[in-house]
Amino acid sequence: KKMVYYFGGGKAEGSADMKLLLGGKGANLAEMTNLGLPVPPGITITTEVCKEYFELGQKFPEGMWEQVLEGMKKIEEEMGKKFGDKRNPLLVSVRSGAPVSMPGMMDTILNLGLNDETVKGLAESTGNERFAWDSYRRFIQMFGNVVMGIPHEKFEEILEAKKREVGAKADVDLTAEDLKDVVKRYKELVKKETGREFPQDPYEQLKMAIKAVFDSWNNPRAIKYREINKIPEDYGTAVNIVAMVFGNMGDTSGTGVAFTRNPSTGENVFYGEYLKNAQGEDVVAGIRTPQPLTKAQKTSPEQVSLEEEFPEVYQQLLKVRDILEKHYKDMQDIEFTIENGRLWMLQTRAGKRTARAAVKIAVDLVKEGLISKEEALLRIDPTLINQLLHPMLDEEERKRAIEEGRLIARGLPAAPGAVSGKVVFNADEAVELAEKGEKVILVRHETSPEDIHGMHAAEGILTARGGMTSHAAVVARGMGKTCIVGAESIYVDYDKEEFRVGDVVVKKGEVITLDGSTGEVFHGELKTIPAQISGEFEELMKWADEIRDLKVRVNADTPEDAKQGREFGAEGIGLCRTEHMFFKEERIPVVREMILAKTEEERKRALEKLLPMQKNDFIAIFEVMNGLPVNIRLLDPPLHEFLPKTEEEFQRTAQEMGLPVEEIKKRAEELEEVNPMLGLRGSRLGITFPEIYEMQVRAILEAACECKKNGIEVLPEIMLPLIADDRELKELKKLIDRVAAEVFLETGVEVPYQVGTMVEVPRAALIADQLARYAEYFSFGTNDLTQMTFGLSRDDAGKFIGKYIELEILKGDPFMHIDENGVGRLIETAIELGNRTRPGMKTGVCGEHGGDPRSINFFQKVGVQYVSPSPFRVPIARLAAAQAKI
Ligand code: PEP
Ligand code: MG
Repeated sequence: KKMVYYFGGGKAEGSADMKLLLGGKGANLAEMTNLGLPVPPGITITTEVCKEYFELGQKFPEGMWEQVLEGMKKIEEEMGKKFGDKRNPLLVSVRSGAPVSMPGMMDTILNLGLNDETVKGLAESTGNERFAWDSYRRFIQMFGNVVMGIPHEKFEEILEAKKREVGAKADVDLTAEDLKDVVKRYKELVKKETGREFPQDPYEQLKMAIKAVFDSWNNPRAIKYREINKIPEDYGTAVNIVAMVFGNMGDTSGTGVAFTRNPSTGENVFYGEYLKNAQGEDVVAGIRTPQPLTKAQKTSPEQVSLEEEFPEVYQQLLKVRDILEKHYKDMQDIEFTIENGRLWMLQTRAGKRTARAAVKIAVDLVKEGLISKEEALLRIDPTLINQLLHPMLDEEERKRAIEEGRLIARGLPAAPGAVSGKVVFNADEAVELAEKGEKVILVRHETSPEDIHGMHAAEGILTARGGMTSHAAVVARGMGKTCIVGAESIYVDYDKEEFRVGDVVVKKGEVITLDGSTGEVFHGELKTIPAQISGEFEELMKWADEIRDLKVRVNADTPEDAKQGREFGAEGIGLCRTEHMFFKEERIPVVREMILAKTEEERKRALEKLLPMQKNDFIAIFEVMNGLPVNIRLLDPPLHEFLPKTEEEFQRTAQEMGLPVEEIKKRAEELEEVNPMLGLRGSRLGITFPEIYEMQVRAILEAACECKKNGIEVLPEIMLPLIADDRELKELKKLIDRVAAEVFLETGVEVPYQVGTMVEVPRAALIADQLARYAEYFSFGTNDLTQMTFGLSRDDAGKFIGKYIELEILKGDPFMHIDENGVGRLIETAIELGNRTRPGMKTGVCGEHGGDPRSINFFQKVGVQYVSPSPFRVPIARLAAAQAKI
């Protein structure tokens, strides 16, 4: 069985479409080799071997090692060097590479093959003794840490001590002799920590490294990363063993990372960073702040771009950029090394990008003729659109804050959005506070993969070190978190739990604000404004609208929400919850009067006061929605939700109603229910207190008539909640039609209106053919429908549903993604039955699922005609609807 794939010398056994088998890195190294790009030779051990390795109890499957040795021979031939050779040794890197990129989560070892003998050969063959010993000390450090489990800091302590002893400021100031001594101390450390000598046999080193890389598939941070990013557990990682090329051979060498387009804005410009005389990991680890790739990228005259420093390599890179983009038809994230002026490509992959960049790049690629509109639409993850709709800083407030001296630092704008939160300095604390509902900003020197859970919990991330491609930047961008990196002026003091900038001290728990679009850090909280949508976004959305069948409305209870929804492209209101209009502070006393009324007379008096208020609400909404349908739902929640609760509220209500407090309390008690969600709510209110619904219908239609007189086109739909029986519906439809006739007679105006029902009780779905006799449309209230189908409280399930998901009893939270098997089947049934009575009848979804891409895909399949999410999810729904169609 083939377990090892070779690439080198312009030919590879693998290709880009073998990611599942070779991992992303291995597949793309093979592809780049076949494209004729300068890739050092190497081999990839497949992900299948990784799986077998675990099945065998962490042992190599039979025959693997022989195939590795065969591959190593080919690498030796191609490089003209021998592994373990005392005169001209071949060194290799050993790297993980999963089918899906997991940046920094798993292990990498560089410079493998060095020992007390080969280090001398390396010094001789390169004529660079310092370089050889620096490579050896790096190797012992990395191998010692990753493979032998010795803490990184112990090595750092030795290195720092040596620097102090000889008065060296930076690592590069250490001489070959100094480094020999560091190597000696490193080896002593290894002996002390592990009780064994540092392994000298290169093949033993190789075996141990392969094992370590496989094992790292199951380290805690990798597991956490897979959990957060929903990467299957059974993928496994490949292992890439690649001939080393050196970016740390002196000033004609270097290493860098680049994006073929700007990953933050999406602009079609080459964008990246490099470090002279450094090895790859130095850039990603964020230890030194790198220099820009291009002249255009420079932000200060002291910087030296690669374009200036290595003009020939830059020209070559430009060609590589072009070849890769044309070939992959997407923005690429590349890693390269320059060894003595010669360019080597070490990696390419689809670059992570902000939502804004994703949209711009997709639209640009269509215009450049590289991909189709459909392809562009499929490339955008609808949930990422949230990022585009992220708030920005209010400009006035920003200016004021700057005048007040509250702009305390500036870093690199790694991921957009403006957020405020309390400062914390470690990931665990970030999680703890976030769980208590606090907004936190995680502040670190630099982040490492161990911080992943804290980054997830935080609103934003701020680091003192690192560049745009450092760990923090890459991970935050992927998560859609606001992030600023490399704010070099701040000093983070973990011991004192504070950070300092000049003489400003910010302690743990103080609030700061980050603007991830500009890199500005402010002391205190700043006001933000909602995001605005770019030209490319509009364009992409237009394409989505051309393609999709499913209509998208918006759930809106106020003119403001309605306006926001319309701006985002909603094609009507799918649900206007009238109770939200009752909750306004100045109305609550009147609402209480209505509820606590003992006689119909009393109730009517209160309702007369409410009528003009409701009418004005509807007028405002109709005005905004001019020409579009507005689906208004009559009162739904259990009445006791409006009742006074505190003693003070009881007193006030009693006073306002001119009744003794005792009387009020008694009436309130009478309205108490054991199971309010299954009690006197929804249309049952209309049956019990018809005058309430009469008032609401009158308000809706009087408003509609008045708007029509003023030249506004109104298309009201009146919807009954929680219907469970056709006679219930029949009764209430009669009420609505009667009030409508009265209003039309009184006003002398007629407005076309429809009466529909929500389908949110399972029984309603099962008798949908009977309901359709009276209901002109159905709107699936999937929140209640899920609650009642599962018998699972939508308000309390959160407490235990996690366990169900963990045990995989449930695939996901059914209140988030529609349960296709159960609730979904009810929806399908209802649509089918409804159509039997009323062919082509209108159906929509107004529960939370209407804004969830996965659910939208299902709704499209079963023939729902529109979805109606909250305003900010309207664009997500438009895109998801288009994707569901494609
Ligand atoms: C529903 O139940 O899905 C619904 C939209 O109504 P509400 O959330 O107001 O109960
Ligand atoms: Mg409901």
